[in-house]
Amino acid sequence: MSKTGSQTGNKTGSLISIRHPLASTAEQLRVLEGRAPRLQRFSGALAASALYPLRSTSIQVLQVNVGKLCNQTCGHCHVDAGPDRRESMTRETAELCLEALEHSAIPTLDITGGAPELNPNFRWMVERARALDRQVIDRCNLTVLLVASQSDLPEFLALHQVEIIASLPYYQADRTDAQRGEGVFEDSIAALKKLNALGYGDPTSGLQLNLVYNPVGAFLPPAQHAVEADFRRELGRRHGVVFNSLYTITNMPISRFLEYLDRSGNHEMYMEKLVNAYNPAAAAGVMCRTMVSVGWDGTLYDCDFNQMLDLPVGGALRHIRDFSPTLGAAALAQREITIGQHCYGCTAGAGSSCGGTLTA
Ligand code: SF4
Ligand code: SF4
Repeated sequence: MSKTGSQTGNKTGSLISIRHPLASTAEQLRVLEGRAPRLQRFSGALAASALYPLRSTSIQVLQVNVGKLCNQTCGHCHVDAGPDRRESMTRETAELCLEALEHSAIPTLDITGGAPELNPNFRWMVERARALDRQVIDRCNLTVLLVASQSDLPEFLALHQVEIIASLPYYQADRTDAQRGEGVFEDSIAALKKLNALGYGDPTSGLQLNLVYNPVGAFLPPAQHAVEADFRRELGRRHGVVFNSLYTITNMPISRFLEYLDRSGNHEMYMEKLVNAYNPAAAAGVMCRTMVSVGWDGTLYDCDFNQMLDLPVGGALRHIRDFSPTLGAAALAQREITIGQHCYGCTAGAGSSCGGTLTA
């Protein structure tokens, strides 16, 4: 019998600030790889689907994690972000990221964090990427739009036609606040209203506002289209809020969500759920096959999850400074992807990625 509860958060601070053993990526990997030895290895599941070794196919997205500073401390955070974190991408490294974009045909810059907008180079990066005519995504936690220093942020994002992908665990306050902190729901609705007032979420404006749902507990997300319909109806009816699309994301068993799984006795049950729901079609479409992820210090990773587990890309290109017009995207597009048991989080059920499910 599982002990699934809705309280995923410790919300007392980052794991690092409370010196929790799981703040160490080595400890996370030890738990992930060793705790449930009878479960099939992810490499075996891939091999049975003729997908091992897993390789990238092209680079469509340069995802840049500009740091771990955040104005929230959500219970499920896979970054272990929070107000106490100081890791932050410098202008020099941000320039290297923009040079990589300039010297490649990668169409999309996806900026994440932490709260990416709190990095002092965020707006500069947006302006540079838009001047290169690239699509820019801001992974926004919504409440950052209410931070005093960011009062003109919604207008800035609209001016540069930045696509906003905004996390909102639920359309009711109790479940959202349980995961993200007291009062987060109310602030999120206020932020959504600001964005709507600028045209975000209006299908005729060209300003994309997409929401992200992830479960508040140790279970897989329900069908994406059903959650989207519920959110559209309830956010519209209760708050007059509109959005373009909703993506469901499976909680990855790493960092603060791993701490929750461990603390609540749900770790093995959750891993078993993920393994049993392995979907070869989702595995074929995992996001790491079409993206590369850059850490705050410029190190390259296959995805933001591998980044948080300190599992960098294999091969010769290890840092964004190594990216060159001749040896950049082409080499990365042929790389072998580093995998682990956490990868089951991307391949369970309909699959999960930064853009929602991977199968129809
Ligand atoms: S808003 Fe995002 S980055 Fe910040 S603590 Fe929550 S999940 Fe982590
Ligand atoms: S966790 Fe990262 S490396 Fe593993 S399947 Fe998902 S996107 Fe790919």
